[in-house]
Amino acid sequence: MTQKILGLLGGMSWESTVHYYSHINRCVRDAKGGLHSARLLLHSVDFDTIATLQRQGDWAAAAQLLGQAGKGLAAAGAGALVICTNTMHKVADAVADLAGIPLLHITDPTIAALQGAGIARVGLLGTRFTMEDDFYRARLQAAGLQVYVPGAPDRAEVHRVIFDELCLGQLVPASRQRYLAIIEALQAEGAQAVILGCTEIAMLIRPADTRLPLFDTAQLHADAAAAWLMQA
Ligand code: GLU
Repeated sequence: MTQKILGLLGGMSWESTVHYYSHINRCVRDAKGGLHSARLLLHSVDFDTIATLQRQGDWAAAAQLLGQAGKGLAAAGAGALVICTNTMHKVADAVADLAGIPLLHITDPTIAALQGAGIARVGLLGTRFTMEDDFYRARLQAAGLQVYVPGAPDRAEVHRVIFDELCLGQLVPASRQRYLAIIEALQAEGAQAVILGCTEIAMLIRPADTRLPLFDTAQLHADAAAAWLMQA
């Protein structure tokens, strides 16, 4: 049977899109063996354009841009879409509407993994949009999870490190220490686990760095993408 085709909206940043691409291919190879790999279409944007629209708060323009890209992937044969970033799920519904194909939402496999592990209280690290706006937390809360985000100064630092370092491929030891201190503070508040709710954070923080279980959204999302590809 011919494998379905999945469309990836990537480049936000490309540092993490690379992990989606390799992880999805690895999953398909491991499941099917031999030379099997994933049928993927990738539209990789210029992240500077998207980051500028984020800063300006012009989410409608960002939705248009990603929606048109998704429409192109659908026309080229993609049966579903994956947005390879947490933050841009702020416009997930508009992107799916414009593209006219289903979208595999990043919070769905994340919620399933947390529930499977029996986690009820979870810390959330990501961009300030992901930590502060409702589009993301509300989905977690609707699934019955209690969500903890860092205080304002720590949120600003988590956000800064994402854009000034991780999206540029820079791994700075002092930033790793700061993130680990923030994770410890979330644990002290009652978090049983932490969502790495930005697709680049797993480059900086590894499971061995902390006693708290980490839920890497990029990996969980890429797992879900591979599962979709291999569904009949
Ligand atoms: N990749 C990051 C995320 O998962 C941040 C980049 C962006 O703003 O899209 O949210």
